Amino acid sequence: MNATTTDTHCPYCALQCGMALRPTVGAGSGGAPTPVAEVVEVVERPAFPVNRGALCGKGRTAPDVLSPSARLTTPLLRDPATGRLEPAGWEEALDRVAARLAGTRAAHGPDAVGVFGGGGLTNEKAYALGKFARLVLGTSQIDYNGRFCMSSAAAAGTKAFGLDRGLPFPLADIPRTGCVVLVGSNPAETMPPALRYFTELRENGGKLIVVDPRRTRTAEQADLHLAPRPGTDLALALGMLHLVVAEGHVDQDFVDARTSGWAEARSAAMAHWPELVERVTGVPVPELREAVRLFCGAEHSMVLTARGPEQQSKGTDTVGAWINLCLATGRAGRPLSGYGCLTGQGNGQGGREHGQKADQLPGYRKLDDPAARAHVAGVWGVDPDTLPGPGRSAYELLDALGGDVRSLLLMGSNPVVSAPRATHVEGRLRSLDFLAVCDVVLSETARLADVVLPVTQWAEETGTTTNLEGRVLLRRKAVDPPRGVRSDLAVLHGLAERLGWEKGFPADPEEVFDELRRASAGGVADYSGITYRRIAEEDGVFWPCPELDGDQVGGAPEVDGESGVPEGWAADEDPANDYGASPPPHPGTPRLFLDRFATPDGRARFAPVTHRPAAEEPDDEYPVYLTTGRVLSQYQSGAQTRRVAELNAAAPGPFVELHPRLAERLGAADGDRLAVVSRRGRAVAPARLSTGIRADTVFMPFHWPGEGNANALTNPALDPTSRMPEFKVCAVRVELA
Ligand code: SF4
Repeated sequence: MNATTTDTHCPYCALQCGMALRPTVGAGSGGAPTPVAEVVEVVERPAFPVNRGALCGKGRTAPDVLSPSARLTTPLLRDPATGRLEPAGWEEALDRVAARLAGTRAAHGPDAVGVFGGGGLTNEKAYALGKFARLVLGTSQIDYNGRFCMSSAAAAGTKAFGLDRGLPFPLADIPRTGCVVLVGSNPAETMPPALRYFTELRENGGKLIVVDPRRTRTAEQADLHLAPRPGTDLALALGMLHLVVAEGHVDQDFVDARTSGWAEARSAAMAHWPELVERVTGVPVPELREAVRLFCGAEHSMVLTARGPEQQSKGTDTVGAWINLCLATGRAGRPLSGYGCLTGQGNGQGGREHGQKADQLPGYRKLDDPAARAHVAGVWGVDPDTLPGPGRSAYELLDALGGDVRSLLLMGSNPVVSAPRATHVEGRLRSLDFLAVCDVVLSETARLADVVLPVTQWAEETGTTTNLEGRVLLRRKAVDPPRGVRSDLAVLHGLAERLGWEKGFPADPEEVFDELRRASAGGVADYSGITYRRIAEEDGVFWPCPELDGDQVGGAPEVDGESGVPEGWAADEDPANDYGASPPPHPGTPRLFLDRFATPDGRARFAPVTHRPAAEEPDDEYPVYLTTGRVLSQYQSGAQTRRVAELNAAAPGPFVELHPRLAERLGAADGDRLAVVSRRGRAVAPARLSTGIRADTVFMPFHWPGEGNANALTNPALDPTSRMPEFKVCAVRVELA
C-alpha cells in the first residue's frame, strides 16, 4: 500500500484476489453525490501471490457496487396500512426488529426464531452471527447459504482426513504436480485468474483432465475431457479406481502405513467394471483407461472438485470416491499430491469455520461435543448447558419458515434466487410472521422483508476472509460508506443491546477477531496465532496457526519441540516462514497432512461407497437432465453483479444451453424461447445451441430471478450427511414457450 492506495481483496469469489483501491476526487465523503464507483480506481497488486495482479471483470468493476445509486442507504419498514416498504430511522428499525424477535421467542419459544447467514460474510460477521443466535436469541435454528456451496466436500474431507480445508496445499503447488483431475469445476469462468495455475501445469508438461457434462471453457484447455451424465461422477471415480487396482497402480505401502478401510473400498470399486461404468456414465472405456494412465503415470497427481460432484444428493459419497482414488494411489498427504475442493463463495472457507453452521461452533468445532461447548462457553462467559444444540440445515430451515419457525433474521443471502425449489422457498418466506434482512441492495429477498437494514460492504469496512487455500486475509476499509448505512456488526451490537446483552457484541471488527481467535484456539481451524498485524505484514496466514509466543490464547494443541509445529500438522518448509530469533510465532500451515492426517490415529479413512442414481432421473414425462452453474460475468444470485452495467451487458439474462440434436427434436432454433419444466416449477429463457453439451442434458445459469430463475426447477433432495441439495441434476422437459 502507498499513501494513496489501500490494499484489499475482491468482494466476490473464494480466490479473494488481491487488489488496491485508490479513491480519487470526492470519494469517501460520506454520501457524496458523485457515485463512489466513478471515483474509486482499482489498482493491480502484482505482489499478492494468489492472483499476481490479475483480476476478472467482476473484480475490476467491483467498485460499481459501492455507488450510493445502486445501494440501500436508509432502513426500510413495511407500513402495515399500505403494505409498502417505507424509509425509517435506524433506532426505530432496530427497535422493531428486536421487539419482533423477542415477541416471537416469548410466544413460541427460542427455536421459533431463525437466523440465516452467508458464505460471503467476513469471519468476524460469521462469528458474531453464530454467537448472537445461540446466546442472545437462544435458538438452534441457524444455518447459512454455504450449506449450498461446499458442504459435501467438507463432510467428505472431514470423514477422510479428520478436517476440512478446501485446499490442503497452496494453489502454487498445482503447476508443479504432474496431473490434475478437475471434477465439475470451471475456473475459466468462475475464477479466471486461477486458470493460469492449470495453464502453467500444462506448460510444465503436466496433464489436465476435466470431468464435466459440458465442454466448458476450462474443458477446452484440457488434455482429456470426460463428459459423464449428470449425477454419475461417483460411478466414474469408482471405475477409475477399479482400473487402478486391475492395472496394478495401488500404492500398497502408502495404503498400509497411512490409511484404513481399504478392503471395503476396494471391493466396492471392483464391483464397478469399466463396461458397467460406461453404461452408467456414458464415458467410453478407452477414455476411462486414458484418464487412469495420465493420473497414475505422473509422479504426483491431484484431484480437485467443485460444485459439480458436490451439489448432489450423494455429494459426500461422490467426493469420498475421488478421495479414495487419491488414497489408493498414494496421492494424498505427500508433497504436490492430494485432494482439494475449490470453494466458491468469497468467504466460503472462513464462513464455515466460525459458528454460523447449524452443527458447529467457532474453531470448526462440533456443537454436540461437550469439550467444544465448554471451551466456547468459557470464552463467551456462559454456562455450556445454556447453549442450544444442533439445528436444521439451510434448506430444511427455509422449508420450516412459517411453520414452527415464525421469524427470521437474514444476513448476506438471497434465497429467493439461490435456494433450490426457489418458488416454494419464496412462499415460505412470505408466510413468516416477521422477516428482517440486512443487505447492501434491495435484493429479491429483501423486497419481502418487514424490515430492511442497509449495511456496509467490502471496501467500506475492515474484516478478514479465508480463501480457498485456508489463507486468512485482511480486507481493509478504503472508502467511507454512504451516509445512512451501518455495518452488520453494528446491527448485531444494536440488537444485542436491545435484547439485554450490553456487552459481548462489539462493532469493532478487530475486537471481534481477537475474541474469535480465543474461541478458535485448540479447534480444528485454529486462528489464535493470527493477528491483523501479521496478516498485513505477511499478506495472509494459513490456518491452523496456534499462538505460540507469549500468553497462550488457550487450549492450543501440543507443539512438537523440533519442528515448532503442533502435533498432527505438517512442518512448512517455506523459507518465507523463517522467523529467525526465538520465540517465533507459529508460521501458519500452508500444507497439511504431510506427516499424518488429522484423524485420532493419524490415518486417512477410505469411504466404502457405491454408485446410486440421482434422486430424480429422466423418465417419459421429464426426459432430459437439467444441470445448472455460473457464467463469467455474473456472480451467485446476481444481486450485486446484475447492477453493474458492464457485467450486465456481457451477461444480460438467463439462457437454456442445449445440443443441436435436442433442439432439432424440439423444433427449436437458436434464440427461441424455451420453457424448461420440472416437477417443482417452470423457467423460460432463450435457447443457446452448443455442440459442447451432452444431447440428453440442458444447462441453465442461476443468476436471475423471475421467469428465468433456474432454481425454480432444482431439486431439494438432500445428501444424508452434508444436507446439500441436489442442485446439479434433476429431470425436466423442454418445450417451445
Ligand atoms: Fe474477484 Fe474471483 Fe474475479 Fe478474483 S476471480 S477478481 S476474487 S471474482
